[in-house]
Amino acid sequence: MGTLYTYQELKEFVDHCQWCRLARTRKNPVMGKGNLKSKILFIAEAPGESEDESGTPFTGKSGIIFDQCLKSINLDRKDIYITNVIKCHPPGNRDPLPDEQKKCIEYLKYETALIKPQVIVCLGRIAAQRIIKPDFRITREHGIFTYRMNTWITAVYHPSAILRDPAKKVDTFADFKKISEKITN
Ligand code: URA
Repeated sequence: MGTLYTYQELKEFVDHCQWCRLARTRKNPVMGKGNLKSKILFIAEAPGESEDESGTPFTGKSGIIFDQCLKSINLDRKDIYITNVIKCHPPGNRDPLPDEQKKCIEYLKYETALIKPQVIVCLGRIAAQRIIKPDFRITREHGIFTYRMNTWITAVYHPSAILRDPAKKVDTFADFKKISEKITN
C-alpha cells in the first residue's frame, strides 16, 4: 500500500466511486464514520436501505441495537469508528457479490491504515468471512479473538441477527465485554 489518504480524501473517492455495478443502483455511498482515533474498528457487511437514504452507517433499526451493544460497555458512536466491507447498498439487500467485495475492500484497507485500531470487530458472518477466514462460522466462533499484525480481531453477531432473535443479545453483550477488556490505554 503506497500513499496514505486522509479521511476526507477517502470519502471523496467513495462518494464518486464507479468501480462496480452498485454505483448504478445506490442512492448514496456510505463511507465509514466515527472517531478517527478510535481503538476499535467495527466492520459490518453493507449499507441497508435506510443507510442508502442517509449516507451514514447504521442509521436504521440495526443501528439501535448496535448502540445498545456499545452502551453496554459505556461507549457511544463518538468513541468508535464503524464502516462496512462494501460502501454501497446491494439492491434487495442481497449479499454483496465476491467481485463487489474484492473491489471495495481497497477502501477498507485505507480506512484501517488511517484508524490503526487495537481491536477489529466484524459484525456478522459476511464481514467475518471476508476479514477473518472464508469458512468462519458465526454461531460457533463469535467472541473468539485472533491476533494478526498487532491487532486483535474478532466477530460478533450482526445487529440484524439480534433483531430477528433477541436471545442472541446475551451472547453479544458478553462478547462486547470481552472486546472492552482487550482495549488498553
Ligand atoms: N447493516 C450493515 O451491515 N451495515 C450498515 O451500515 C447497516 C446495516
